[in-house]
Amino acid sequence: MTAVTVITGGSRGIGAATARRLAAAGHHLAIGYHRDDAAAAAVVADIHRLGRRAVAVPADTTDPTQIDRLFTAAADLGPLTALVNNAGVTSPIGPFTALRPDDLRRVVDVNLIGYVLCAQQAAHRLTRGGAIVNISSAAATLGSPGEYIHYAAVKAATDTLTIGLAKELAPRGIRVNAVAPGIIRTDIHTDSGVPDRADTAAGRIPLGRAGEPDEVAGAVAWLLGPDATYTTGAVLRVAGGL
Ligand code: NAP
Repeated sequence: MTAVTVITGGSRGIGAATARRLAAAGHHLAIGYHRDDAAAAAVVADIHRLGRRAVAVPADTTDPTQIDRLFTAAADLGPLTALVNNAGVTSPIGPFTALRPDDLRRVVDVNLIGYVLCAQQAAHRLTRGGAIVNISSAAATLGSPGEYIHYAAVKAATDTLTIGLAKELAPRGIRVNAVAPGIIRTDIHTDSGVPDRADTAAGRIPLGRAGEPDEVAGAVAWLLGPDATYTTGAVLRVAGGL
């Protein structure tokens, strides 16, 4: 069966690394992204160089119409075999009392509602052997006090989504897992107002350093690969011991 995977937020960071890794493993890819056309085009070019098919689709995952467009574009590559729910945002790091309602709503909208809507599209389209990987966060169990408790709470919801959906889709032979990264070197920390967080946080990570996007991509590729056929409902922590 040809692997055709939708990955949201595939233009940069963990999503881009995962798209490249999956292409190397034989997947054709539909890359969803928000605004960065150039970054998405660069990922597509790399996938083409690896001999796979790819399409980049600007698709805000909070908008059901745009999500539908992403999955319709993926269908042109062949029947869907996997979804990587990855598009996510943070908001400015700070105490809980300083959290602004708009930031809270955006984090819930993109990181939870977006994941649910994309998973629903995938659940309609996937057949036996299909799989979903949700990118969660180690924050889900750490709680992120003084940083972004609301983000951590939403990532915990991602884990619950993973567990419930794994059970609901198992009778159809569809697996659902999550990867929970720790602090990974991407642009997301700029959005939270601490661009050098990967370096400043190193001292509190047991392995003594932040992770790289490729190190998360490897976990996603394993969960979507032939060695994980009995793995479902798992949350695989890739967090350097955090
Ligand atoms: P990133 O480098 O900031 O990249 C975010 C990606 O998501 C970009 O491709 C962006 O598209 C896309 N995106 C953002 N909002 C979107 C929306 N509304 N609709 C569609 N696409 C959207 O982030 P990252 O660090 O790779 O994070 C990826 C995932 O890993 C997120 O779910 C995040 O919560 C999770 N995570 C990250 C870390 C970490 O330390 N980096 C740790 C734990 C979990 P554009 O390029 O068009 O802007």
